[in-house]
Amino acid sequence: MYVAGQGVTGVASMAKLKAGRLARQVPDACLQFWGGMGYMWENRVGRAYRDARLSSIGGGADEIMLGIISKYMGIAPRKE
Ligand SMILES: Cc1cc2nc3c(=O)[nH]c(=O)nc-3n(C[C@H](O)[C@H](O)[C@H](O)COP(=O)(O)OP(=O)(O)OC[C@H]3O[C@@H](n4cnc5c(N)ncnc54)[C@H](O)[C@@H]3O)c2cc1C
Repeated sequence: MYVAGQGVTGVASMAKLKAGRLARQVPDACLQFWGGMGYMWENRVGRAYRDARLSSIGGGADEIMLGIISKYMGIAPRKE
């Protein structure tokens, strides 16, 4: 879409929101599977659990993505 000259802000925001949520969900499920070992600092699952958490905050938090998406969809609350 970008190469074709189309606007991508809406779909890019959707992709970032989804990626951020998945990056929280997947390590969380892995940590649960590993149990206490997954929680240990030196375990890669525990590291992924903490590190991936940033993706829903950095570069525009999930709530900001939701705001952008709702504006692009024309459903953002507006002041009368
Ligand atoms: C490890 C790390 C590396 C970083 N690297 C960089 C970097 O290289 N370059 C850079 O520029 N920045 C960097 N940052 C900063 C990062 O971009 C900010 O943390 C991010 O933009 C969120 O801002 P904030 O931390 O001030 O949180 P806030 O903006 O205070 O957000 C806190 C909470 O309030 C919510 N919120 C904020 N505004 C609204 C709103 N209008 N509506 C609804 N909810 C809202 C957020 O969604 C979030 O849940 C880094 C941060 C970390 C932790």
